[in-house]
Order: sequence, then structure tokens, then C-alpha cells
Amino acid sequence: MITDEVKLDKYSVGVGDRFAHQAKAQLQACVLAGRAGVDVIPVWNKSNREHNIIGSEPAETRAAVDAAVKVLGWKKPHFCDADHINLTTVERFLAPCDFFTIDVADAIGQSATKSSIDAFVKQRAGLECKLQLEGVDEAFEITPELLRGTAAKFLFAVQEAGKVYRRIESAKGRGRFIAEVSMDETDAAQTPAELLIILAAIADEGIPVQTIAPKFTGRFNKGVDYVGNVEQFRREITLDVAAIAWAVKNFGLPENLKLSVHSGSDKFSIYAAIHEATKRQGVHLKTAGTTWLEEIIGLAEAGGDGLALAKEIYAEAYAHREELCGPYATVIDIDPGKLPDPAAVARWTSEQYTSALRHDPRSKKYNSSFRQLLHVGFKIAAKMGRRYLELLEVNEAVIAKNVTENLFDRHIAPVFLGKKTR
Ligand SMILES: [Zn+2]
Repeated sequence: MITDEVKLDKYSVGVGDRFAHQAKAQLQACVLAGRAGVDVIPVWNKSNREHNIIGSEPAETRAAVDAAVKVLGWKKPHFCDADHINLTTVERFLAPCDFFTIDVADAIGQSATKSSIDAFVKQRAGLECKLQLEGVDEAFEITPELLRGTAAKFLFAVQEAGKVYRRIESAKGRGRFIAEVSMDETDAAQTPAELLIILAAIADEGIPVQTIAPKFTGRFNKGVDYVGNVEQFRREITLDVAAIAWAVKNFGLPENLKLSVHSGSDKFSIYAAIHEATKRQGVHLKTAGTTWLEEIIGLAEAGGDGLALAKEIYAEAYAHREELCGPYATVIDIDPGKLPDPAAVARWTSEQYTSALRHDPRSKKYNSSFRQLLHVGFKIAAKMGRRYLELLEVNEAVIAKNVTENLFDRHIAPVFLGKKTR
């Protein structure tokens, strides 16, 4: 029996640390979770695109993370996630990472060969029936048309995931890393029945997947709350969880397989639903840019040079708003009329700046357009280079306090501890 297989625990949180300065403050939030009685395993995620924009390497993320783990004496597992990689981008992540989010969204809709679709449909003909899943009152009806249609839409993507998985396995060894398959960065949400069929294909492909990231209905905009029908989301995630449980039992997938919720930062209105639905099976909640915004909040709160830099970043982001927003058009909803004039922001106090930016939906001063523009504005700070990093270092204490509080109070507590968002 292999005893050293890398396994992801029931609860895990993906955190993003764009400038590799907040790992300690983020880990501190997991320490607080432990003190509150729940193990939450930290996973540092950073995509190839983010590394390219910042000009960083995956090995630097690993070094910052390991240093934080040492300083805080963290003894539970921790991981570095090669976020949204594919066959062309995986190489530089192989050595420093031990978690791989295999992104095959671009391959969805491309058709596998007719013979492989026929073989899949034949092999999985047993799924064509009414499935009564545990813990939900509605049955899944998988018709021959749905089985074939889903195979036509997703089988090629799963085959691609298999290729990426085997590349990673050949470099790292079986059982030495966590594999996630993500399908969130696509236009249409997958239904729970489609998810079940996709999991059958993943099992056939021999991928020991531990987390799966479907696309849910509703909008998961960057750094702001969920936009959509919360009751529909609740129903959908409950069915997804039931589909996963059934797949684990029947397809021989890893027992700890669980949902991964991408773009999970700041989705306060659905956290109660996520907590309820995943209490038994667990969940991976992926957050990212919310920490970068806490850096800006901390700088603004610090006043002086910090506040001045926060204002400069906004002015630059405002001036370049079209080019910054372009690549994120499908995941932001900025009302240009709500963006304050940089000349007015230049006169703001610390309190005015932080209360416009901090995600407190009950506050009248909170401005979601201002927040979303800054969310996509990290390129500006990246261009500032040392000047930005030095101010992060000078103001470490006030920034760390904001980073830890945001991650623990607004994310970990509601999702994993079932507490109401403050
Ligand atoms: Zn994603």
C-alpha cells in the first residue's frame, strides 16, 4: 500500500499572492481557522498569465510560501497550485508545484473522434436510466441523447486533460501531486447531469482527480459579490455534490474528490449555500485578487506615501481602464458613471479611500465599480516594481492585518465555519 500519497483534506482555500508578500498573513487566516476548530488547508494559486503580467516565476511563489510556513510553524499540509495550466504552459510549474489545475475549457465543444465517442457511450450505457442520488429528492434522468451529446461536447476536453495529467505524472510520479480538472472558464454552465458524465469520462481517462471545478450559473465577477439567483445556485451545487458522491462510489474516483469553486472571492451571498451543500464532502474555495485589493486598502489606511501610491494606482488604472478591462470583459461589470474622477480621489482621506474599496456591501460608501477597476489594475503596481514592493514592506503590519481579516472573517468563517458574513 502506498502511504505517502498526497491527499487534499476536506476543506481547503486557494489564495493568490500576486507580489509574493502576503503568504504569512494568508497562512495566519488558516491558523485562526484551526483555533476555531476547523482545519483549512492553504493552497497558493497563481496562473501562467498572472506570472507573465507580474514577471514572476512559480519557484518564487514556492519560496515565499515555504518561508511563511517556517516562520509560523505550520505543520499541516500546504500546496502550490499551477493554476489553469495546459500542455503548453505546464513545464515551469512542474518542479515547484504539487497541485495542478488542469484547464481544458478551451477544448470544450471540440469533438473527439467518432470511434472514441462510440466507445464511451457503449462503455457507459449503464448510465442511461433514472438515477436516484443520495441526499436530493430529484432524480437524474440520463437519456441516450444526453449521454451522447455530453460525450460529443466534453470527451475531447477530458482526453486533453488526460494528456496534461500524464505529462505531470511522468515528471512528478503518481500520487505525488493533486490533480484538479477545471471547466469554469467557458460560456455555458455544466448541468449536474453533465458533470456526472464528465466524471465518468475522467475516470475512464485514468485521472485520479481530487477536485473538479465546473462552471456554475450566475456571474462570478472579480472581487465582488455573486450576481444571479441564489436559490438556483443552491439547488445546482447540492446536485453537483450528490453527483460527485455518486461518481466516487461508482466510477472508482478518489474518495476525497470534492468541488472546487473558482472565482470564489467575495461571493458573500452564496457562502451559506456553499457551506450547507459541502458540509459532508468538503470544498476547495479558490480566491485570488481579493488579497491584492487588501494590499491597496492597507496602503491607503497607512496614509502618507502609502495613500499617495494607492491614489496614483487608481489614477493610472482610470487612465488605462479600457486596456485593463478588455481581457476581463466577461468577469467584470463596471459602471463607468460610478467611477470617481481621479482628481477627486486625489483629495480623499484614508477613510474615504478604504471605505470606497473595502467590500462591505452594507456600507453606502462602498463602490463596486471602483473596486473592480482596481481589481484588474494590478498590472500598474507590477510596472512600479520596487517602488510598490518597498511600500508593501514598510507598511507590512497594517496590510497584513487587512489581508488576514479579509480572508478569515469574510471567506473562511462563512464558507468553512458556517458563520454569517460580517
Ligand atoms: Zn478558474
